[in-house]
Amino acid sequence: AGSNRQLKIAFERLEQVAIHDDLTGVFNRRFLIDVLTRESSRAKRLGTAFSICMFDLDHFKTINDTLGHAAGDAVLRHFARVGSSDLRAVDVFGRYGGEEFLLVLPDTGQQGACASAERVRAAFEIARIPRLPADRRFTVTAGIATSRPEEDIEALLARADSALYEGKAAGRNRIVAVG
Ligand code: GH3
Ligand code: MG
Ligand code: MG
Repeated sequence: AGSNRQLKIAFERLEQVAIHDDLTGVFNRRFLIDVLTRESSRAKRLGTAFSICMFDLDHFKTINDTLGHAAGDAVLRHFARVGSSDLRAVDVFGRYGGEEFLLVLPDTGQQGACASAERVRAAFEIARIPRLPADRRFTVTAGIATSRPEEDIEALLARADSALYEGKAAGRNRIVAVG
């Protein structure tokens, strides 16, 4: 019975590692894709819509280049904390890759998604990150897309990406939604 219990603990630990990002502790890309897949079929079945926000930290390469890679990591961890606070129980936030993070908002239209993303953007902009220069401001741009019936998750992600690209081109530190 003892070894059975140890096996269970080991398995649960493996499960945790498999769905979380090592650096930031938030959900990883694999888990986000699982969530998107599930949410997409749920929305189709129920005839509802959900939204995604793709966040990309602004000028992150410059942050690494001027403050160092360890500081860059600290900024990523900080953004992960800001992005995962004040969410509804059904919302899922994770690291999509590099300096990109994804927020999945079930049963949420464009307006609600914009409000959520704006809350994250504004909180991050005013954040002071411990041990980093106090006069340095860090910002994020987000692209938002709301699900359409008949659309797969690749197409939904592509729309969020193009909204993100628009936000970067328009000067960064902003939220852009595509129709
Ligand atoms: P933009 O405002 O247009 O998004 O510019 P950017 O510099 O943020 O974009 P770019 O894609 O050129 O740079 C992303 C950088 O993120 C490059 C890469 O080295 C860095 N990066 C990716 N993952 C990590 C990580 O885990 N830690 C650190 N410190 N840097 C990372
Ligand atoms: Mg990027
Ligand atoms: Mg970037």
